[in-house]
Amino acid sequence: MLRLYNTMTRSVDIFVSKTEGEVGLYTCGPTVYAYAHIGNLRTYIFEDILRRVLVEENYRVKHVMNVTDVGHLVSDADTGEDKMAVGASREGLTAFELADKYWAAFRHDMARLHILEPDIWCRATEYIQEQIDLGREMEKRGFTYELEDGIYFDTKKLGDYGRLARLDIEGLEAGSRIEMVAGKRNPTDFAVWKFSPKDEKRQMEWESPWGTGFPGWHLECSAMAMKHLGEQFDIHCGGIDHVAVHHSNEIAQVECITQKNWVRWWMHAEFLVLPKQDDGAGTAKAGGKMAKSGDNFLTVQSLVDRRIDPVAYRYFALGAHYRAPLTFTWESVEGAANAMGRLRNRVIALGHPAGGSVSEEHWAPFRAAYRDDLNMPRALAALWGLLRDDTISPQDQYATLLRMDRILGLGIESMKEEKVEVGREILDLVDARNAARKNKDFAEADRLRDEITSRGYVLEDTAEGTKVLPAG
Ligand code: AMP
Ligand code: ZN
Repeated sequence: MLRLYNTMTRSVDIFVSKTEGEVGLYTCGPTVYAYAHIGNLRTYIFEDILRRVLVEENYRVKHVMNVTDVGHLVSDADTGEDKMAVGASREGLTAFELADKYWAAFRHDMARLHILEPDIWCRATEYIQEQIDLGREMEKRGFTYELEDGIYFDTKKLGDYGRLARLDIEGLEAGSRIEMVAGKRNPTDFAVWKFSPKDEKRQMEWESPWGTGFPGWHLECSAMAMKHLGEQFDIHCGGIDHVAVHHSNEIAQVECITQKNWVRWWMHAEFLVLPKQDDGAGTAKAGGKMAKSGDNFLTVQSLVDRRIDPVAYRYFALGAHYRAPLTFTWESVEGAANAMGRLRNRVIALGHPAGGSVSEEHWAPFRAAYRDDLNMPRALAALWGLLRDDTISPQDQYATLLRMDRILGLGIESMKEEKVEVGREILDLVDARNAARKNKDFAEADRLRDEITSRGYVLEDTAEGTKVLPAG
């Protein structure tokens, strides 16, 4: 039996899907105005484990993930610029080009972390009509009102607004900690549709029954999840910060229309946090959550540049339960990389033998761990328990490892001796240097060699071509 924590009930409950053998899974995806940071990716790793576990438990999973390419404003209080517009002017691209660039980068990061792609990707800008239709349904039922800058949802009209977050609505009203748009009836009200500023043509704007403008950020997930997974489905995930605002608002928009519980399981990953002081975390200046808007965020590329295999970061993330905050330090990620190195050596020593069978003695505790609300630290302990047990034949150890790796996603099958981790960027530099040498531009070739060396790689020009290896 699979047990999963449900943010709605605040307890670990036995998972039962709406339809036997099937799971509809919606995971809130990236806002594609910048590279994802490794904190964002912690959340996606958790969701990837969840999905793999569901498949292992014989569910047919339909996994939907959105791409936010419009409407996510700098402030959660429906004020400030659109993050996409900010990113576009920063990079001299159109907002659409910016979205293409960072969506592709996100998928590249997913691949480097062995995160499986969803069955359905949906981009907010491709579902404008669905979002308008949903807004019209809310309007028809009297849940919206118009202000000068947009159409807002009246959260007071929905009896149990905020039940996911157990929001203290009265406390909020009294303290009003949320920055308010002028005219908002309640502090928790939120924009469903924002009007384009009167004197300005936005790059991203559409006609609507209310006027030219763009959807509020929460509307896309409600509309797209409903479209692909229906009025009731199984699991909806995101980072912990989504509980109080984004997911509470998604629920309001759907349930005010359907009058039914929308999602059976709400699941949220805790944050990747930075150490309080700069104690060796390099670029990390302040403590607290890793955030895209801060100057202290790290990307998958930052790992690759330090010659850390991105999969070691995945291993690092699995070392903490998804509902506990995880503190990033280079030391601990390097510790995970060392553990991965030991695992690789063991796998290589086993020699990928065929014909073994799964050791039930070791698979059982592994399965019990993941069935217990995805307890990956315990699952990893079970993996090492297997490797320490010399009463198990190499064939059976290897067969059991492969079974475990269906969930862990560490790439055990492809752990081979000659595997050298060289990032795409380095390989591009090597290609560029070869081209420069061919053109007899030796100054440029030398410059590129220095660049490669400064990133910690050495080049060997052999008869068969140029080899690139991590230094040392
Ligand atoms: P965004 O691209 O900003 O919309 O965020 C993508 C996902 O990352 C969301 O599910 C967020 O809740 C999650 N997230 C944001 N910051 C962190 C963090 N420091 N650690 C873990 N997850 C995060
Ligand atoms: Zn969402």
